[in-house]
Amino acid sequence: MTKPVSPVSDEQREKKTALAALAKRKEENKNKKPVDNSSLRAGSSMYFQCDVCKGEIVLPEDYQPPRPRLCTPCERMERRGWLPKEGI
Ligand SMILES: [Zn+2]
Repeated sequence: MTKPVSPVSDEQREKKTALAALAKRKEENKNKKPVDNSSLRAGSSMYFQCDVCKGEIVLPEDYQPPRPRLCTPCERMERRGWLPKEGI
């Protein structure tokens, strides 16, 4: 007898891990100062902050606007509907 694998609990476990990682990112980035892009040399990458975790988003200077609101892991969570509402 093998136990049936429940995709729901797998997803819930994954979500829990993602939320824990998000909390850790927020904690780590709490005191981070945003980079002043205007102080960088021409040709430098552009630095932005994720709206949710304040994580750094680095884009080439010639990126196509609009800038992303979210860093990659946060964006992935938003797509799955996992972001806590108050975090946005
Ligand atoms: Zn983020």
